[in-house]
Amino acid sequence: MMTVLTHTQASQKVDELRKKLNKWADDYYAKDAPVVEDAVYDKTYQELVELEQQFPDLVTADSITQRVGGEIKSDLSKVEHPVPMLSMGDVFSKEELKEFDDRITKLVGHPVAYNVELKIDGLSLSLEYTDGKLTRASTRGNGRVGEDVTANAKFIKDIPQTLPEPLTTEVRGECYMEKETFAKLNAERDEKGEQVFANPRNAAAGSLRQLDARITKKRNLSTFIYTWVNPPRNITSQHQAIDEMNRLGFHTNQSGQRFESMDEVFKFIDEYTAKRNDLSYGIDGIVLKVDDLSLQNDLGNTVKVPRWEIAYKFPPEEQETVVREIEWTVGRTGVVTPTAVMDPVQLAGTIVSRASLHNPDYLREKGVRIGDTVKLHKAGDIIPEISSVVLSKRPKDSKPYEIPNVCPSCGETLVHLQDEVALRCINPMCPAQVEEGIIHFASRGAMNIMGLGPRIVKQLIDKGFVNDVADLYHLTSEQLGQLDHFKDKSITNLLSSIENSKRNSAELLLYGLGIDHVGAKAARLILEKYKNLEKVSQLTVPELTSIDTIGETIAESLTAYFNQPSAQKLLQELRDSGLNMEYLGTVEEEAPDNFFKEKTVVLTGKLSDFTRSEFTKKLQDLGAKVTGSISKKTDYLIYGADAGSKKDKAEKLQVPMLTEKEAIAKIEK
Ligand code: NAD
Repeated sequence: MMTVLTHTQASQKVDELRKKLNKWADDYYAKDAPVVEDAVYDKTYQELVELEQQFPDLVTADSITQRVGGEIKSDLSKVEHPVPMLSMGDVFSKEELKEFDDRITKLVGHPVAYNVELKIDGLSLSLEYTDGKLTRASTRGNGRVGEDVTANAKFIKDIPQTLPEPLTTEVRGECYMEKETFAKLNAERDEKGEQVFANPRNAAAGSLRQLDARITKKRNLSTFIYTWVNPPRNITSQHQAIDEMNRLGFHTNQSGQRFESMDEVFKFIDEYTAKRNDLSYGIDGIVLKVDDLSLQNDLGNTVKVPRWEIAYKFPPEEQETVVREIEWTVGRTGVVTPTAVMDPVQLAGTIVSRASLHNPDYLREKGVRIGDTVKLHKAGDIIPEISSVVLSKRPKDSKPYEIPNVCPSCGETLVHLQDEVALRCINPMCPAQVEEGIIHFASRGAMNIMGLGPRIVKQLIDKGFVNDVADLYHLTSEQLGQLDHFKDKSITNLLSSIENSKRNSAELLLYGLGIDHVGAKAARLILEKYKNLEKVSQLTVPELTSIDTIGETIAESLTAYFNQPSAQKLLQELRDSGLNMEYLGTVEEEAPDNFFKEKTVVLTGKLSDFTRSEFTKKLQDLGAKVTGSISKKTDYLIYGADAGSKKDKAEKLQVPMLTEKEAIAKIEK
């Protein structure tokens, strides 16, 4: 029941809610780092809306309910929007959506058709063209003034730089990050001990709003364009506008549909509530737009939102489960990451039993203890994340969780390096780091030793056959014969793959050494200039920074690494084993002919012989493209136990399917 407040109480409450919301909006919009879930923000916002409706004299022009977005604080130049970029009203139930339709019917005087679109989870982007050339790209900002991201937009592949016709016009849409890109980016940030992005929306915003456009380029952003600000006269409806923008070369979402009844709209909502996990991009709801553009014009806008459109937001998918353990794993660079191990639960299409807790600060902030019941959701529909602890279910005898101070692998004291949120083990001989280092050395982007996946590396280390990457080059068939399920064919293949890697161009070896901050690109640039790895190992910081784009961080990390006698010894051992130290120019190695070469493959269900990432890597090594969602372009679906909607979809689209065993048989052929 709603409590009735006096005017003074309401005024205090309004102040309190605005303060909270302003702070959250600042974290979300300006810093791209929200501190609360969207659902918490939405509920608090709704509370403020209701109070302002009850006490209209408390509404102020600067209330968050009357303005769009947050304050603009970035260093990017500012851009004034000729036509304001508004926010959108939202509802959370079908009943409220029906009320919206009733309101529109009443205002217009008759029922209307809606163009119903997916609500893409990204950030709004405006693109302005002059005589058919992209001349300005900007973010929404506070609706009147946004940030200039023209340089950044040049690096988003699906944005046309030139239109097929010399139009002077403005279109708007959503800039977003694919789920897979988001998951990979966060995994990389976790590994480096950097703060992860809360969801693809924040990752996209953080990647677009960069002073250095090269960062945007690396982040692989995409767009869906859905608004034509000033369409030509012959375009009279939203669905026509989308078709025409698509013809002009914009990336538009093809899932939208025009409906004349709310029953059809509800069916569409049900369909996408079920399907959303299978999409390769995040959606957080469905948008209803009055299809007729002249009616849109008649209905107009409030100060904050258009009256002719509304978003139906999906309820947050959440599950409760119990944390049984907090596991600490040591990454290649020594970053130690906590993971909550929980009772398995079904969540947004998969069974989840683990969620990263990223770093000690994050763990403390969430306040998770062993035995706690927690609420779990998927960030960006993909990464399991603990939303909160259900304190009412906390066991009576529960104790605060103590962050370890020694490495779980080697027992050395853990440290925080300057300004880092992460805990690190700085023992270079730490077995867990050695294992991760060898996995990295053998990986596709580095030495590309096929058949040397994590499970094999672990066994090689456990059996004492390998202590560092140099030992790989002394492995014998007799030793490999002692590994689980390793037969003649696998032994010959692995040995020849190791042998072949000796001939790799030296930048792959440099990258494979896994030196902090020295990525594949930096390794290539350094060897392109200095040609020989032994020479590179003797370079000074100024010599390295003389290369365009190699900064001090990379240079210092590289020289510090090679200043260690152990690193020089390793390099010498590798050279003595016959590894090439010369830069040979980068040639993309072509996969040998095989069943999966150049095929688009999707994996689904629980695999029994390999982890999902091991299987993906195997297929990629064979030259296959592994994607996240089924489409007509998919060549094969490989499925394990309990395969769900992807298998249904593959059946519908008649995509050929293979069981995990059948696929392995094809790989080993
Ligand atoms: P919004 O993101 O809920 O909706 C409006 C936006 O939807 C538009 O600006 C547009 O960019 C986008 N959109 C996606 N697909 C679209 C389509 N097909 N057609 C039209 N537009 C489409 O509104 P908002 O004002 O940007 O942000 C408010 C929301 O942001 C809140 O509801 C909340 O969930 C979230 N938020 C969260 C926090 C937090 O701390 N967690 C803080 C502030 C805001």
